[in-house]
Amino acid sequence: MHAVGIDIGGTKIAAGVVDDAGTLLATTRRDTSPEEPHAIEDAVVDAVAELRASFEVSAVGVAAAGFVDPGRAKVLFAANLAWRDYPLRDVLRERLGLDVVVENDANAAGWAEFRFGAGRDVQDMVMLTVGTGLGGAVVIGGRLVRGAAGAGGEVGHMRLVPAGRACGCGHDGCWETYASGSALVRETRAALATDPERARTLLDLAGGKAKHVTGPHVTQAARAGDPLAVEMLADLGTWLGSGMAALSALLDPTTYVIGGGVGAAGDMLLGPARATLEEQLFARAQRPLPQVVLATLGNDAGIVGAADLARVVLD
Ligand code: BGC
Ligand code: ZN
Repeated sequence: MHAVGIDIGGTKIAAGVVDDAGTLLATTRRDTSPEEPHAIEDAVVDAVAELRASFEVSAVGVAAAGFVDPGRAKVLFAANLAWRDYPLRDVLRERLGLDVVVENDANAAGWAEFRFGAGRDVQDMVMLTVGTGLGGAVVIGGRLVRGAAGAGGEVGHMRLVPAGRACGCGHDGCWETYASGSALVRETRAALATDPERARTLLDLAGGKAKHVTGPHVTQAARAGDPLAVEMLADLGTWLGSGMAALSALLDPTTYVIGGGVGAAGDMLLGPARATLEEQLFARAQRPLPQVVLATLGNDAGIVGAADLARVVLD
């Protein structure tokens, strides 16, 4: 049975047909505007129609960047999108004439990594998606932990720093304000203002303007040896490691899977993350060190996981 998976991002949607072995058979994408939820639906309907022209499809899984109710029907809250109590499943089911399952974007990606990717040989893992926000998926004993209200695994909003940076969720000090692609870019731009000498390559890549710096620029500059870029990635890694140590005290997973664009930084990010996790891990001498690995499904994880969940949930 084929299912369509759809990953709804801030400015685009990506959709694909996935078979029951997790193989992506075809993909398509549409640009959207973050302010208009209806434009997102139109894009989804259009993309699904395109894919259905070539494949027989029996269900649709949607990955959305917010927390989703226990019935996998409504986006209850999204820190970085306009949705509140939004009945996305029913709206789409009606328009598509197909069964629809909605899941948190990081849960979908984590589910894909657990079933078919970096976590396929483990039973206890946490996936962290490092992008605009910091998403989490918790799989314990082979089961995705969704919590009572569906807000389980929202690790990006664990408060790591009392009275810390302001977060899109309305609180402050949340982990994602320190450990996300947005945090990396924001902090790098700020550091450039005071420390341009240590970031020659980075400034060149951004056409001489700090405000044009992007995440990929930071990785590229770090690879070229820019000390400031190396330091910014190491800071991000350190923040990731601190939060992972906290998560290990609670969940004790064998594996952390790191996804999102910053994964391209590889060991420049994972090295400091592993070191900090080891340093801050509770009862370190009496337990194995969790492994920290990169996601293997890349940008397709949300699509593959949403499609697979639609199949599993509706079966
Ligand atoms: C949201 C999560 C989402 C994550 C990644 C966070 O800000 O609260 O629901 O999974 O960003 O998109
Ligand atoms: Zn928050």
